[in-house]
Amino acid sequence: MGYGYRYKCEFCGKEYGISTGTGFLFPQEYKRILKDVAKGKYGKQMKECYEKTPYIAVDAENKYYECEDCGHWDVHPVLDLYEPKDIGKLLKKEFGGKTIEELEEVPYVMPNELKTSYKLILKQEHRCPKCKGLMKKRNIRNVCCPKCGKKNSPLNSVLWD
Ligand SMILES: [Zn+2]
Ligand SMILES: [Zn+2]
Repeated sequence: MGYGYRYKCEFCGKEYGISTGTGFLFPQEYKRILKDVAKGKYGKQMKECYEKTPYIAVDAENKYYECEDCGHWDVHPVLDLYEPKDIGKLLKKEFGGKTIEELEEVPYVMPNELKTSYKLILKQEHRCPKCKGLMKKRNIRNVCCPKCGKKNSPLNSVLWD
């Protein structure tokens, strides 16, 4: 399930939208992100973690992040890495009629499964591309306009999946 907000800047007129969560493309997104972790796109530490952890999982949910220093915001995957609490149980789990044991990989892991069946092993720090400040996960409410930088409040919110 995804959530979105529409904005129209009351100062410069810029219209934009922000959406987060997991949409229907989530399984493909998940695969792509895990592949990037394996290739080292997100850094050496994550790549090493990927290599030594069997059935590793990544938090691929898109979240809203805001810089603590300059207010710059971005929507991107959380990218924290997890390991299964119980591999034996995981191997018996089915995806489209086949078990993980038969598939030899986990096609994708939903964020709620990470909470219940996985353990956090590597937390990803997100740095602001503008000022290198720390970016924090936040609820979307009043955000800075991407054009003029003034604070806007949302026009409305929408749900999608
Ligand atoms: Zn910043
Ligand atoms: Zn504006």
